[in-house]
Amino acid sequence: MKYISTRGGIAPVGFREAVMMGLATDGGLLLPEAIPVIDRATLASWKGLSYQELAFRIISLFADDIPADDLRRLIDRSYATFTHPEITPVVHQDGLYILELFHGPTLAFKDVALQLLGNLFEYLLHESGQKLNIVGATSGDTGSAAIHGVRGKENINIFILHPQGKTSPIQALQMTTVTDPNVHNIAARGTFDDCQNIVKALFNDLAFKEEYSLGAVNSINWARVLAQVVYYFYAWCRVSGQENEQVVFAVPTGNFGDIFAGYVAKRMGLPIDKLLLATNENNILSRFIAHGDYSVGTVVSTVSPSMDIQVASNFERYLFYLFGEEPARVRQAFADFAASGRMEFTEAEMARVREEFLTRSVNQAETLATIAAFHAETGYLLDPHTAVGVKAAQDAVAPDRIAVCLATAHPAKFGEAVEKATGTAPPLPASLQGIDRLPSRCEVMDADLEQVRRFIIENCRVQP
Ligand SMILES: *Cc1c(COP(=O)(O)O)cnc(C)c1O
Repeated sequence: MKYISTRGGIAPVGFREAVMMGLATDGGLLLPEAIPVIDRATLASWKGLSYQELAFRIISLFADDIPADDLRRLIDRSYATFTHPEITPVVHQDGLYILELFHGPTLAFKDVALQLLGNLFEYLLHESGQKLNIVGATSGDTGSAAIHGVRGKENINIFILHPQGKTSPIQALQMTTVTDPNVHNIAARGTFDDCQNIVKALFNDLAFKEEYSLGAVNSINWARVLAQVVYYFYAWCRVSGQENEQVVFAVPTGNFGDIFAGYVAKRMGLPIDKLLLATNENNILSRFIAHGDYSVGTVVSTVSPSMDIQVASNFERYLFYLFGEEPARVRQAFADFAASGRMEFTEAEMARVREEFLTRSVNQAETLATIAAFHAETGYLLDPHTAVGVKAAQDAVAPDRIAVCLATAHPAKFGEAVEKATGTAPPLPASLQGIDRLPSRCEVMDADLEQVRRFIIENCRVQP
């Protein structure tokens, strides 16, 4: 399997190189040259497989330059850190299926991809003898999942900047209580944007980036998307009665990564009737699907902060397919967008979008009301991100259809909002109990590029 860029400017590369490249060197995103299609008989034969075995069957189609035994080992190791034997179990509540993606180390769905990516990085670096210094900024979820993905790994250091005091206390503890020698937390006296700007400046200093082998953990790495494709298949295998039962997946969306994985599953032949794209008030993607209006608004803070995003980094991958796999059309669309802050679509394109997607934008009051009503009805606690998807499914999916809602975070991770909605704090899972009494390590500094750079230089010696 070879990978190409949405912008058409690179020679095709293998899976290994695609993982290490992250962003394509022409500024585009990497995609497989052709998406394999799974026939009905094969799909039916996958129904009884364990999560790990299913992951192997799917990932090996896209990662044919990794020997099968090695890939099995990487998958087994990645999901051994999950606390549920099914990894991503499906539960049935109030007429909806809930796909629980939050049983990993940081209690959010990003673990499904970042546990695998950490192991893949370690494996590929070991083979090539290279080192990697991962540098990133986080407002909470991605940073902790990335840290847990690479903690203790050979040949990798990770430096994560977060705005001091501006993540939730649990999110900060999930990062700073990881005291492995290769993990470096930086709490900057500033905002998330200050952190992000420092990281961008470090990556734009090409000499520094090269000398210190800087790498990113952004959501555009193809391996992250690929790892997420697996749970769409897993959920379908768990809920479908007949071979070709059509399912709607409701996906709370920020960067379009998770829902793009569902789109790949659909193209692979998984019987997905529609993908239901659910947003909070940051609804650029909903406006696009509903009205063809793709124009940037300002980011507002909500009770589902991991979806407080305007420009979705993975959207370009979908546009590549929408534009008939024409890199020139992708380049033109992004040039227009850079110039005018909006993108235009033809009627034919919008008709295709509406064939594949449904959408709802759910506001904060509705989100909290959904958490409360769902709890009163079933006793089941939804986290605010999941509640956005559940509300969207309740509104947009007819009761006789099968709807699967992706539960992207454990309710205890966003306990404040859940308590506000229901009046009771969600019980803490084992990984959070006593977390505030664990030893922690974090470097507090000004949001200053040169201080951060010096800290990286002094701490990037790779551990023995
Ligand atoms: C990151 C995140 C999302 C959004 O996922 P995308 O892939 O960015 O669309 C939703 N919910 C939670 C809890 C998250 O951490």
